[in-house]
Amino acid sequence: MTIANIAAKPEASHFVGGAYIEDEAGAAIDVIYPATGETIATVRSATPAIVDRALETAASAQAEWAGRTGAERGRVLRRAADIIRARNRDLSELETLDTGKPLSETLVADASSGADALEYFGNLAATLTGEHIALGGDFVYAVREPLGVCAGIGAWNYPTQIACWKAAPALACGNAMVFKPSEVTPLCTLKIAQILIEAGAPPGLFNVVQGYGDVGAALATDPRVAKVSLTGSVPTGQKVYSAAAGHMKHVTMELGGKSPILVFDDADIEDAVGGAILGNFYSSGQICSNGTRVFVQRGLHDRFVERLVERTRGAVIGDPLDEATSFGPLVSEAQLDKVLGYVDIGRAEGAEIVAGGNRIDRPGFYMEPTIFTGVTDEMTIAREEIFGPVLSVLAFDDEDEAVARANATEFGLAAGVFTRDLARAHRVIAQLQAGTCFINAYNLTPVEAPFGGVKQSGVGRENGHAAIEHYSQLKTVYVGLGPVEAPF
Ligand code: NAD
Repeated sequence: MTIANIAAKPEASHFVGGAYIEDEAGAAIDVIYPATGETIATVRSATPAIVDRALETAASAQAEWAGRTGAERGRVLRRAADIIRARNRDLSELETLDTGKPLSETLVADASSGADALEYFGNLAATLTGEHIALGGDFVYAVREPLGVCAGIGAWNYPTQIACWKAAPALACGNAMVFKPSEVTPLCTLKIAQILIEAGAPPGLFNVVQGYGDVGAALATDPRVAKVSLTGSVPTGQKVYSAAAGHMKHVTMELGGKSPILVFDDADIEDAVGGAILGNFYSSGQICSNGTRVFVQRGLHDRFVERLVERTRGAVIGDPLDEATSFGPLVSEAQLDKVLGYVDIGRAEGAEIVAGGNRIDRPGFYMEPTIFTGVTDEMTIAREEIFGPVLSVLAFDDEDEAVARANATEFGLAAGVFTRDLARAHRVIAQLQAGTCFINAYNLTPVEAPFGGVKQSGVGRENGHAAIEHYSQLKTVYVGLGPVEAPF
């Protein structure tokens, strides 16, 4: 397959008010295909006029949308899910072009995950209710209202999924959204906006505006925006959170991590190795919840490393559009340089590379899946988020030590435990400071389950019933049946 015959690329840079629009005054942003380094499209950054138009149209669509019943809103979202599933291959190919992730992944993890979210929240829409509180005569009712216009700001690793994980609960609750994808991966989200219109959403309900951080900042500070939901790094999260505080906006912050996987001596070694591979090398390691600190108990350590290295050799590195490929390039030259920089630091600080460690000599932004052993807690590679295919193995002796070391980080997104001792599994998980935990599994994030972090990894939750709390607010109404008793 060549790039030329890939499904239609979006028609213009932005999708606002139900249609593609362009503003040639915006700065050009080249879209680079990570597997070759070719420029496959150019989009324009949104000018203030585009942002303004998006916010205006979102506000008027929101008023109409909130007036529909939950069942009606749900039907639109479920229809969009069906359209996405029917176009899974085209959307997956576009996701691969945008991100460089192998088609073997995008066919099962991106558009399909977006469809799951639209279906799930579409189904919930008609079930959203408030509560009635009897007071023995007088009574109170509390209704769940939408927030208004929400801003979504996305990272580049899962453009379709991130947009849908934000849009689905927001729209189900009766909000509208203006979404700014990452400047690195601007294409996929436009297709989602187009599909929502085909499914019957009112024009302006879900808008996409392109741009760098300044466009995100314009959304985060605009008084017309009631809520900001960001998926990105901790430093960006800190900026967006404080910008949102100016108007006391609601926020959801899905940020970075340096998550631990604890592998005990009694673990099923193949499952644990499989978890470490899934938690470090899927999407070339560019996943926020990755378990990049793999703590392995001393008795299993050497055998674990041996099997991990053996199985990592099985990665099929190649053209992401070839379905046989299981490991693709990183998203950009800049990200590749950053990750290779961490590999150099790891070497310099005394960790040992037992697999990979090098850029691959081919066009595009490829590097080998990389495994470090002999990593200690103080090393930079054990402390900072690398966001690439770099796994650190750290040896430990006992449970308390492992828990303390796993928690010794400012992050708290995810954590995993591999053991056959279920009492230990639950005991350890109860002590780990992480929002999303796994026992004898890793990085599975079904839409039914709340997802998010603690500590610096974020606030709020996506997915599950929990997301509804973050896209709606309660209005409490006290109803007096009289007489009104006043002091004078
Ligand atoms: P980033 O923080 O550089 O950018 C994220 C988004 O924020 C982009 O759209 C960017 O343009 C925008 N942005 C930048 N500065 C801004 C500002 N001042 N105001 C408003 N918006 C601004 O992150 P990235 O490099 O695109 O993505 C990688 C990061 O995202 C990693 O740290 C990763 O862990 C995190 N991530 C988290 C999750 C999660 O669910 N927790 C999921 C995926 C990625």
